[in-house]
Amino acid sequence: MIKAKKSLGQNFLKSNNIINYIIKTANLKAGDIVLEVGPGKGILTEKLLEKAGKVIAIEKDHRLIDFLQKKFKDEIKNDKLKLIYGDILEYKPENSIKSTYKIVANIPYYITGQFLRRFLSSNFPPTTVVVMLQKEVAKRITTTNKESILSLSIKAYGQPKYIATVSAKNFSPQPKVDSAILLIDNISKDLFKNIDEQSFFQLIKTGFSSKRKMLINNLSFVPKDELEQIFKNIKIPLKIRAENLSLKEWVGITNSLKNKEVIHN
Ligand code: SAM
Repeated sequence: MIKAKKSLGQNFLKSNNIINYIIKTANLKAGDIVLEVGPGKGILTEKLLEKAGKVIAIEKDHRLIDFLQKKFKDEIKNDKLKLIYGDILEYKPENSIKSTYKIVANIPYYITGQFLRRFLSSNFPPTTVVVMLQKEVAKRITTTNKESILSLSIKAYGQPKYIATVSAKNFSPQPKVDSAILLIDNISKDLFKNIDEQSFFQLIKTGFSSKRKMLINNLSFVPKDELEQIFKNIKIPLKIRAENLSLKEWVGITNSLKNKEVIHN
């Protein structure tokens, strides 16, 4: 028996219905290449192998690697499954994937934000992401009335969609909170054709630096009168807080500051 390690976010799925729901959401074709993060005991991997052309699975727990090597002996031998012992936050997909790929995974929750940002902003991003994550985080990412650095970081690269709530009862050991399936589709870097990616996120980070303050006060590196003019031009209320600004409005401010040469082109 392999005892679950809390430190690695090990909550194993035990429901075939949920697995089927994840697979359906990923809309897999026979030629698809899938990157799975944390295959665990392989419950999702098994279904991915049935539906996709090839699966690359990265697992950080060597006990599970031993287990999976036995379980998927044939699939590894005929190159349908590539099992990698390692940390997904250090993995470079371009080293083992040569075409487009999808990410489908029940991810360890402690890496959610870092993992999504790393892969979406990479120079070799997936075309689609389907992940299981904490319900509250999925809600925060998909909401339209209260943005966060995380939700904006995801919307800058793709379209997130809340697919379904998954009760904590579907996992073993059972986590304290419910989960959700999140789809991120239409992934691209199109937004950054005309604005500098680094300046854009630097602006957002500065804007969110003190959440209770008005945005205009957080952006104090720009002279106040200039900022007020920009807000008026793009029809943003002067007293707005960072969380109430949409992605489009952040782009508007970035463009205006770029034109004034306050930030990079
Ligand atoms: N896919 C399995 C399932 O659905 O039952 C397991 C999911 S469990 C929530 C997360 C898995 O990710 C565990 O197997 C854990 O060991 C692995 N893991 C944790 N941190 C990791 C990391 N940084 N890189 C790769 N795998 C990791």
